Amino acid sequence: MTKSKEDKPVPLCLVCRERPAIRAHLLPESFVREVFHGPKDDEKHMIVHPDTGRKFQSNTGRFEKDILCADCDNVLGAYEDSAFRLLKRLRAVEVGTKEGTRSDVAVGTYRFRVDVVDEFIRFACGILWKYASTPPDAPDHIDIGECRAMFEDICWRGAPIPGWVDVFIERDLFAFAAFPEPEQVYYYCSPSLGRRGYRTAHDLAWFSVGGFIIYVKLNQPGISDFALRKCWMRGRTDCHFMVAMRSVEVNNSIHESIGMTREDLAKLNRSIQEKYRSGQMSPTRRGSPT
Ligand SMILES: [Zn+2]
Repeated sequence: MTKSKEDKPVPLCLVCRERPAIRAHLLPESFVREVFHGPKDDEKHMIVHPDTGRKFQSNTGRFEKDILCADCDNVLGAYEDSAFRLLKRLRAVEVGTKEGTRSDVAVGTYRFRVDVVDEFIRFACGILWKYASTPPDAPDHIDIGECRAMFEDICWRGAPIPGWVDVFIERDLFAFAAFPEPEQVYYYCSPSLGRRGYRTAHDLAWFSVGGFIIYVKLNQPGISDFALRKCWMRGRTDCHFMVAMRSVEVNNSIHESIGMTREDLAKLNRSIQEKYRSGQMSPTRRGSPT
């Protein structure tokens, strides 16, 4: 422990155990900020936990102050920047058409390339490591067991991705179907855990950013059939993302969350709404924040 000015102990970084921890974003600020519309300076959004009914207002998403130092946070930052650019590019790939409230989606797999093998997997492992490193009573804490230490080695010590860890991505069709402009991003979701598969069931974690759901296989033996083999990204530059109707169900609780926060958001963003009404601003994206 080092001491701060007030002589209170400052927690050390959980990775290097040398430098003091800073306020580190759990989800990168870039992913949070793209949720906002138009001029973003004073807009706030809500973080909602539909299971417990807990909700918080937020400017740039949730951060945790006792887990990472600036240097270790920067290591993840490089993976996160590259993931942000990749998902933004893939979100522009046309997976269907929208006319009013009607969506026609072309399900299947869509090919794409990444420049650096496994970089996206390191990004996903870093996100899960952060949520697994929050206090156990935090509303979004996850317990990924042995994977927490394994992901720490993957993200900060250059460990290779073991054969039983893998990632695939699926276009979030709930966002596509529910909102007017499918290329925009309307929400993000912190990680969930569960067993998924058809003939084989594996422990997976998943979270949603940038219009995609990112699935991570949690050190489970065998080949998961929850996605086609070519969609699992480990060891590849030639990749495929999935478009499947099942993704509509994954973020269904967003409906409920929007209902829970409608009034709070209206209050929080009254000033921005008034500027719209008075014509000082014109909406460049969707009309109401979520
Ligand atoms: Zn550190």
